[in-house]
Amino acid sequence: MSSGYEIIDHTYDVVVVGAGGAGLRATFGMAQQGLKTACLTKVFPTRSHTVAAQGGVSAALGNMGEDDWRWHMYDTIKGSDWLGDQDAIEYMCREAIPAIIELEHYGVPFSRTEEGKIYQRPFGGMTTHYGEGRAQRTCAAADRTGHAILHTLYQQALKHEAEFFIEYFALDLIMDADGSCRGVIALNMMDGTIHRFRAHETVLATGGYGRTYFSCTSAHTCTGDGMGMALRAGLPMQDMEFVQFHPTGVYGAGCLITEGVRGEGGYLTNSEGERFMERYAPNAKDLASRDVVSRSMTIEIQEGRGVGPDKDHIHLHLEHLGPEVIHKRLPGIAETARIFAGVDVTKSPIPVLPTVHYNMGGIPTNYKGEVVTLKDGDPDHVVPGLMAIGEAACVSVHGANRLGSNSLLDLVVFGRAAAHRAAELVKEQGDNHRPLPSDSADMALGRLDRLRNAQGSTATSVIRNNMQRHMQNYAAVFRTGETLEEGCKTLAEVYASFEDVAVADRSLVWNSDLIETLELDNLLGCALTTIESARNRQESRGAHAREDYPDRDDDQWMKHSLAWVREKGKVDIDYRPVHMNTLTDEVDVFPPKARVY
Ligand SMILES: Cc1cc2nc3c(=O)[nH]c(=O)nc-3n(C[C@H](O)[C@H](O)[C@H](O)COP(=O)(O)OP(=O)(O)OC[C@H]3O[C@@H](n4cnc5c(N)ncnc54)[C@H](O)[C@@H]3O)c2cc1C
Repeated sequence: MSSGYEIIDHTYDVVVVGAGGAGLRATFGMAQQGLKTACLTKVFPTRSHTVAAQGGVSAALGNMGEDDWRWHMYDTIKGSDWLGDQDAIEYMCREAIPAIIELEHYGVPFSRTEEGKIYQRPFGGMTTHYGEGRAQRTCAAADRTGHAILHTLYQQALKHEAEFFIEYFALDLIMDADGSCRGVIALNMMDGTIHRFRAHETVLATGGYGRTYFSCTSAHTCTGDGMGMALRAGLPMQDMEFVQFHPTGVYGAGCLITEGVRGEGGYLTNSEGERFMERYAPNAKDLASRDVVSRSMTIEIQEGRGVGPDKDHIHLHLEHLGPEVIHKRLPGIAETARIFAGVDVTKSPIPVLPTVHYNMGGIPTNYKGEVVTLKDGDPDHVVPGLMAIGEAACVSVHGANRLGSNSLLDLVVFGRAAAHRAAELVKEQGDNHRPLPSDSADMALGRLDRLRNAQGSTATSVIRNNMQRHMQNYAAVFRTGETLEEGCKTLAEVYASFEDVAVADRSLVWNSDLIETLELDNLLGCALTTIESARNRQESRGAHAREDYPDRDDDQWMKHSLAWVREKGKVDIDYRPVHMNTLTDEVDVFPPKARVY
């Protein structure tokens, strides 16, 4: 293609896209095993969203009371509302133990018990004896576990001489006619050069897509780029309807306001000043479970009782607690509210909104990290040359709902698994790199050029705002057939409006207008597959709560949704069976003993 873009070629054994917890664990593991490894990242590695994780990472070490990986496995299957793949869950819970001990040895500065062991705290849904006792399973480095892990992994990756391409934006995968992945095309954001990476294995570790919603706790960089690339390569997304919400994120900014605020006596009001939770949950009131509170807030807003000029959020009050209690028990929250909402919590309420926190769905993989798809009737068909790990992937260990502290675990266990598997696969292929297809850069450069020169009339920020508001209203924590139907229709219009996008800056040097447009393209694919999968699934399971189908329906719906985006935003849906087999069949936790919700 005579694109006029300068292309610089690279050849590696493995190229990892993403330098969050998942990407760095894979990069370092691959480099350690002697593979020639490149890692591309659009932000500096230690700025990836993993750095914001506070609470910790789960593993049944039993440092602070009895524990067993089988109990961890049971909790995770139950937490997934029986949509998680049990072989993958077994793998994660067993491998958690060596994976965390390794992290300790690599230098993660975990908090310590008096005996010098890794400190572990209790977390929601983590039990002993299959649901009977409370486990202390979450390993913590104070309240900055993600920070500690990310810095350690980056240092290890440098030590083992992995090569980093920092502030490189991956545009598209290079796919061969036989359906295999051959590498990736990236833009160096600093000077506009185009880089073509040829590799035996390409690993997508690009994180979640929280930014499809108006309010989310994730970083601005969580734009589902890996998912967008996989969709454009003709691959499906799995279980996208399962999006985890937290009731109290700061309106606009999305930062989390902990449940502890309501634990201390804080309460929510609508535009009439009414404490509406008394109506929805007369006993638990403001301390009802996360999904109940989020759902009630959404009803208030939809029925016109939201606060603010657009009547689109809710007030959270702490004023009545008095400055003394606030400064003693909730100093961090007072600071967050001051910085992100401009509110003095001793005098005014905090504007809040149910906020997207985690994406259970993503690129389907097996427990070795290999991307799988449904092909010729085979639901576990491996896509040669392509892997996915971390929040970008759907292994699926979280099923319909993720337990707290299981995501950091997912990153390190499957980052490590991908490194082991890549070493095996690369050994089989040796130095023998087939020539790339002649059109290897055409799709990526065609798209880049089209968007860079887009002369439509709607700014990227306008389309993004439309998409985020639609997702917030129509694919929220609380869903009905009617709202989803309406949401699919209007989102299709937003998707179509991308044809009319306007990019004002034509340069190739630090063109944030262009980068945001490329990200929006990826977000739109994630939004479409999320809302269409939600409309399609006629049951309630885990984070997917349908008012018109309030019960879980195992006969019809114990299966993974797959969603492909075809021409002009048409979405096709099919299914993969849930893996009910464990790896060892040591634990029989099916059929379910109890519902989680
Ligand atoms: C505020 C917050 C607190 C959390 N707390 C916890 C917790 O306590 N415990 C827990 O288990 N989980 C927690 N989670 C969830 C967990 O932190 C995330 O799921 C996890 O960190 C995601 O890691 P990742 O490696 O998949 O992606 P990320 O850390 O998001 O990294 C993505 C990487 O991909 C790169 N990238 C993306 N697109 C491109 C592109 N186009 N080109 C090049 N590079 C690209 C980015 O530069 C980045 O390096 C929390 C999440 C949030 C938001």
